[in-house]
Formats: sequence, structure tokens, C-alpha cells
Amino acid sequence: MKTVYTFGGAADHSDPRQKDKTVTGGKGANLAEMASIGLPVPPGFTITTEECVGYLERGEEFSDKLRGDVAEALGHIEATVGKVLGDKDNPLLVSVRSGARVSMPGMMDTVLNLGLNDETVAGLAATSGDERFAWDSYRRFIQMYSDVVLGLDHGLFEEALEIAKEDKGFYSDTELEAEDWRELVGEYKRIVAEELGRDFPQDVNEQLWGAIRAVFDSWDSDRAKVYRRLNDIPGDWGTAVNVQAMVFGNMGDTSATGVAFTRDPSTGERAYYGEYLINAQGEDVVAGIRTPQYLTKAARETAGATPLSMEEAMPDAYAELARVFDLLETHYRDMQDIEFTVERGTLWMLQTRSGKRTAKAALKMAVDMVGEGLISQEEAILRVDPMALDQLLHPMLDPDAERDVLTTGLPASPGAASGKIVLDADKAELWANGGEKVILVRVETSPEDIHGMHAATGILTARGGMTSHAAVVARGMGRPCVSGAAAVSIDREKRAVRIGERELVEGDVITLDGATGQVMAGKVATLEPELAGDFGTLMDWADAHRRMRVRTNAETPDDCRMARQFGAEGIGLCRTEHMFFDAARISAVREMILASDEKGRRAALDKLLPEQRADFREIFEVMAGLPCTIRLLDPPLHEFLPHGDEEFADLAEATGHSVDQLKRRAGELHEFNPMLGHRGCRLGITFPEIYEMQARAIFEAACEVTKSSGDAPVPEIMIPLVATKRELEILRALVDRVAGEVFGETGYQVEYLVGTMIELPRAALVAGEIAEEARFFSFGTNDLTQTTLGVSRDDAGRFLAPYVERGIFARDPFVSLDVEGVGQLVELAAERGRATCGDIKLGICGEHGGDPASIAFCEGVGLDYVSASPYRVPIARLASAQASLKAKS
Ligand code: ADP
Ligand code: MG
Ligand code: MG
Repeated sequence: MKTVYTFGGAADHSDPRQKDKTVTGGKGANLAEMASIGLPVPPGFTITTEECVGYLERGEEFSDKLRGDVAEALGHIEATVGKVLGDKDNPLLVSVRSGARVSMPGMMDTVLNLGLNDETVAGLAATSGDERFAWDSYRRFIQMYSDVVLGLDHGLFEEALEIAKEDKGFYSDTELEAEDWRELVGEYKRIVAEELGRDFPQDVNEQLWGAIRAVFDSWDSDRAKVYRRLNDIPGDWGTAVNVQAMVFGNMGDTSATGVAFTRDPSTGERAYYGEYLINAQGEDVVAGIRTPQYLTKAARETAGATPLSMEEAMPDAYAELARVFDLLETHYRDMQDIEFTVERGTLWMLQTRSGKRTAKAALKMAVDMVGEGLISQEEAILRVDPMALDQLLHPMLDPDAERDVLTTGLPASPGAASGKIVLDADKAELWANGGEKVILVRVETSPEDIHGMHAATGILTARGGMTSHAAVVARGMGRPCVSGAAAVSIDREKRAVRIGERELVEGDVITLDGATGQVMAGKVATLEPELAGDFGTLMDWADAHRRMRVRTNAETPDDCRMARQFGAEGIGLCRTEHMFFDAARISAVREMILASDEKGRRAALDKLLPEQRADFREIFEVMAGLPCTIRLLDPPLHEFLPHGDEEFADLAEATGHSVDQLKRRAGELHEFNPMLGHRGCRLGITFPEIYEMQARAIFEAACEVTKSSGDAPVPEIMIPLVATKRELEILRALVDRVAGEVFGETGYQVEYLVGTMIELPRAALVAGEIAEEARFFSFGTNDLTQTTLGVSRDDAGRFLAPYVERGIFARDPFVSLDVEGVGQLVELAAERGRATCGDIKLGICGEHGGDPASIAFCEGVGLDYVSASPYRVPIARLASAQASLKAKS
């Protein structure tokens, strides 16, 4: 197996291993690729990643084969450029560059000008005819090599340079003459000898092998290890080493070095984008010592800058560069990020790779490239990261607006929101109903804050992480949220919020940026998302390529409307309990719960019926004939109970019960583990009148809408938390009976389905039996994850992060489906359900319905649809298109 691959000059680039990043690293593979299509690449060679792995395994020993192969490959460079490493008359200089499969901060920095010593420096001066250049290169080499390979502090060298300049009264490096650089080289060598106790290596072979060794060693540096851990990069990849003939951007005013993108990486605009510096080398452009200049005349003019652009200062080299840009884009069929050097008017390419880009740019480039015939629609769909769409869907803060940042918390749910501070959920709802925009500020949120969270335009909490109640609910609702802002403290007495040094009161306006976690004083201007244009185009393509339907989880007409704008094709989950929290209804709900007998309950339910009917009517109208899965009441009843004496007193007055009576009843409803308690279909079995009322409201609304609009709704009535066939049998009979009654009364009839949520392991196991009663299954993967793992989502905050960090869970199982465990249950239930009922409709309605990895899993299982919160609908559309395309290929 080859240990070294040569590139450039007359090298043979035909071995496919040379263009395989796993063998030659990203940089090496692309250098070979560029050379093979005839671009000007300085000749060089790449030592494989396999040699790095072997070297580390052997306890930092080079293989014998490598020593011979490197010597031979060096011969290739020498023959191509007609110079010899270490030759005192005609010396070759090389760079030594690390290059793993993916670009990796933490790896060894590049060493330039290797091969210089006290003798070759004179040769370089003679061959270049520029003594100043030769000594400048030598001092750069000593400084870089000492820092990167010998591990000396680069500050020592910078200090020496500063002192030299001061002595001579110079301001900038360009004022130093050959003699000055020569003196500085002497000083640098003295520093090395003093710090190291031995002289700077004069033997060029020692220099070369020292640098190669340093690149290999840097794979196991602490910095590299930390980076790998944070980015899930395996430790056994190793890095390649590239040794390449130097070309010089620091040979006077016809030489330059620069970095460029073939398109604008932040807007996606088809315009060359980049910077360059005349008479400079290597990293001078990014080092910030001198201010780089623009590449194009247009960019310079837009910026109002005076120093000439490359297009103006070096028109020939620029024209060549532009030609190369176009060749590279055609070849790679993607936007490229490029490094180049111009040596005395001649252009040399030093690096190319696919460029990083913003979501907006990714979208624009993908769509543009299809128009240009560069890529297919399928490729365009696969190019855009679905999660990145999130950045584009929410109103964004105007980047040009001033920000008075009060503190920064966790970026829990993206989007920007401004509004008045309110400290409790009821007030949030009250003010919002009065037309105010409010930000709900809480220490933490809990289920009884839902109505306030819904009413708010944004949510700020002092405590809680990225999977806290506030964060999860806010993401579900598409509300911007900043959680865990520790600098926030709330004074309920004074109705005030202290944020760091500043005190604000209820009613003061603040702004949240859920994408960064910033909390700002006052209102900051926002920009609305753009749903037409490139976004719309890519989404249309995605729709044409996906198999699964995409529905939404929504329970208010507003959310339904938004979801339809985002392309939802139905409702996958309408949670009816949210409708019960409405301020106007909660007292009827409480009256129902606290009633001591069925008669009392029915009286209260009669008050709720018209309200529920109106809810459903509005939703059916918005959904205009699309399927709507409505889940009957699910949470334990005590969630609706009053809190605090004030609320009990209010309720006592409203119902005519005494406060004591009410408290006693509340005590009776208390549960030790409500998640596994009296909830879901267990409510329907024990209090059938509740489900009867809900079913009646649904059918009456459906009939009304059929009558008035002609868009006949298709309600899919979902019974939650079913574990046995018998439960579903009883409740399905109830629903069918009510449907029959309503159809008889109204003279209208609608199509409907009764089905269940699969959210208990038992239900998944006996899905074949349950399917005898169900026309559809919807996988409620939030609860199915909780019940399968035995982990409560609301309490997992304390251990989930360390679990993920230590790799016990690959990812947060509430964010991305645990395919290995929970996934098996989904697969099994789908299979058994279909075996009983061939055309059973299958969908997913947990948070996972908006997660691309989980969506790919659903495609594999063959579900009919996924359902996601409104803002995730476009993500789900794109992700399911990608899953369909990948399944085909
Ligand atoms: P990084 O991975 O940090 O970008 P590189 O290996 O690309 O490191 O080197 C950084 C810079 O050094 C390059 O952009 C280029 O300007 C310069 N450089 C590297 N090799 C050479 C060379 N053979 N000739 C001239 N400049 C070089
Ligand atoms: Mg670098
Ligand atoms: Mg580079």
C-alpha cells in the first residue's frame, strides 16, 4: 500500500486512493484533484493518514518504508521545480501542512519556508535576486518552526522584532531592509539556543522530519482531542501531512496572497468574494497585521475603500483566478473556499474545499445551481440542512438595529420577540387578549402556565436548560424562548425583574433573541421571514420528491393557519386540553372536575359543549377539508385545579361550594405519579360523559362546516393512552354512538375515523389486536419514550446532559428518537397493525416528527405521515424528501 502520493508536475494522479479524503485528508485529496484537472498547483506529496495511525500505534515511530518513500517523493518535487532541498546554490523550500479528513482546529499550524539555513539563505538571495526577501523568509521560518515544531513561545520572537523596530525608529515591517532582517535572524537564533539549550537545526532533513513528526503528534494534542470530542470525530482517523514546494507571495509588488469564495457565503449571491494582500505570505491575510484588500472592484466600491482591488491592481492574475473559480465550480459543482498565491504575476492554487455558508446562502446557491444546470433538483434538495431552515422561518432581529443587551441565557427556542414583561400566565393572557404583546418572565414554567405561554410572544426563564418545560413547550408552540438566564431574578411583591444591575417592572418592554439567548432592553426592530422566493422553490421540489405526508401539531386556529402557510397537509395532533385552559372556560372545567356526581359533571359539560364546538368549527374551517386528528382529553384532571387560596375562593364563589369542600375534592384527586395515573382513555372509561361531550362537539362542528362551506372535514378521533383492545372497543362504541346521534339530529353525515395513539409499550406489543378496533395509529413518541425508557421528560434535566456527554445516550432521546429501543416498538407495532388491517393509517405525532434523523427512521418504517409543530413543518417536508431520495438511491 502506498504511504506517499505525489501531486503536481508530471505526477500520476490516477490512483483513486489519492482522491479519497479518508486516505489523503481533505487538503491532500483536493490538491491532487486540482492538479489532475490541470490547475496550477505547486508540486508536492501527501503522506497518508494510515501512516499517522501507524506511527502513533508504534509509539511514535516512523515506518522504514515511509523514510524511503518520502525521499523518493521529495525527488519528484525537486525534479519538477529544478531545485534541491538543502542545496546551497539553488535551494528548494517547502511548506509542511497538516490535513485531516475534515478541517480541524487544534491540528498543527502550517510551517512555511522549510529548507532555509545559514547557507541556503544565501542561495535563495542569489536565485531570487532579492536579498531582503531571502532574509525575511528565513526569519519567518525560524519563528514558525520554533513555535510550531520546537514548542517555543512565539511572543519571544515578536518582542525581539518590536525591539529591533524601535531601535531603528521603524513603524512597519515593510521598512526593514535586508540587513535588518539578517540581524534579526541572528537574534532569533540566539533566543532558540538560549531557550532550547541547542542550536536551531541547520540540517534540512532534520527540519523536514521534525515537522512531519510534529504534524503526526498534533493529532493527539489536547486541543485536537477536545475538538474531536465536541464534534464527534473518531480518534482513529489520523491526519495526513502535505509537503509542498513553496511559492512566494512576498516577492514584491507583483506578488500577493489571498483567500476567496466562488460565491458570497453569507448571501449566496453569485459574486466572487474574498480578500488579498500584496507582498505577503501565508496567513498574513487572516492574521490581522495588515488590513487585507478587496478582491473585486465592485466589492471595493460598495465598501467605499480606496486601496485597489486585485481586479484593478493585478488584472492578469485576477482574470486567471476568475477562470480557475469557474473551473472549480464546474468540477466540484459546489461553492468553493479557496487559498491562492501570486508569485511575480503567476497564479498558484494552494487549497480548495466546499465552503461553509449560512442557511440563506445554502438555499440560494442550491436553487441557483439548478437554474445554471450545475446540479439536479434532487441534489439541491439533499444539499440543504433541514435544521438550518429554522434560522429562516422565524422573524429575525434586524442585524443593523442597536441592541442594549441585559444578559444572555440559553438559546432555547429560536426567533425574536419584543413585548411587555408579565410575571404570570393569567396576566399574560389578559394583556394579550387586550391586544398587547407580552413576554412571560418566570423562574421556571409548568403545565399550568401553558395558556400564558401561548398568549405570550416570547418566554424568558431564570432557570432550566434546553430541555426544560419552557424550552420544550416554547419550541412546540414556535415561541421564541430564552431559558436559564441566571442573571434574572423576580420580585413578585414589587412586580419587578432584576437583570444584573438593571431593574425593570411589569409592563416594561424587552426583546428576546431565541437564537442567541440575548435579552435586550426595549424593542429591537425585526424582519419577517421570506417564504416565497428560493425557499418556496426548494420546498416545491421537496414536495414533489417526498412520499410521506406532513401534518402539524396544532390546537388553535392561528397555529393551524400558520402551519398551512408552512405547507401542513392536515393536523396530526390537536390536543383538546389546551382549549380547556382558556381563562373563560377554566371555571366550567373546574366545576366539572369538582362535581361529586355524574349529574353535576354533565351540567358543567353542557356549558363547555358550545365552546368546544366553536373551537372545532374554526379549526375545520381553516383546515378546509384536510384530515384532522383530534385527541380526546388526555392529562390527569388535577392539572386543571385551582392553585392558591385566591383561586379557591374565586371558584367557591362561582360554584357555590365551600372552600373546604373544594380543597377536600382537590385532595382526593391528588396522585403520586400522575403521568401513569388517572389520565388518557382511563378518563374516558371512568367519566364517559367527558368524551361524549367532546365527540359531540367534534361531530356537530363537522356537520355545521359541511353545511356552510362544503369542505367536508375528515375528523380522525384519537383515543389516548390505550393499552388494551378492550379500552378502544368501549370508547370506539361510544364515539360511534354519538356520531350516529349527531348525524340523525343534523341530517348531515361526515366521514370519520377512530384510532389510537401508540404510546405505551404494551400497546405496541399487542398492536395486532388493537388494530381490530383502530383505523389509524399515531405514534405518540414523547410518552412512548418516557414509558419505554422509564424516564420522565420533565425530570430528566438533572441527568440527561451527563448521559449524553458520556455517550450513554447518543442523543437526547426526547429530541431524536431512540431508534434502537423505542424504534423497535414503533416498527413492531406498524408491522403487527398492518398484518391485521392492511390499510391502517400510520403516523407520528411526538416532537420527533420534526427531527430529521427521526423522520428518516419513519420513512424506513413506511409511515404514512409525520406531524410536527408549525415551525417545523418545512423542516419535516425537506427532511422527508431527503429520506425518500436516500431510500431510493
Ligand atoms: P490551514 O489549514 O490553516 O488553512 P494551510 O496548510 O492551508 O493551513 O496553510 C495556510 C496558508 O499557508 C495557506 O493559505 C497559504 O497561504 C500558505 N501556504 C501553505 N503552503 C504554501 C506553499 N507551498 N506556498 C506558499 N504558501 C503556502
Ligand atoms: Mg491555519
Ligand atoms: Mg488553508
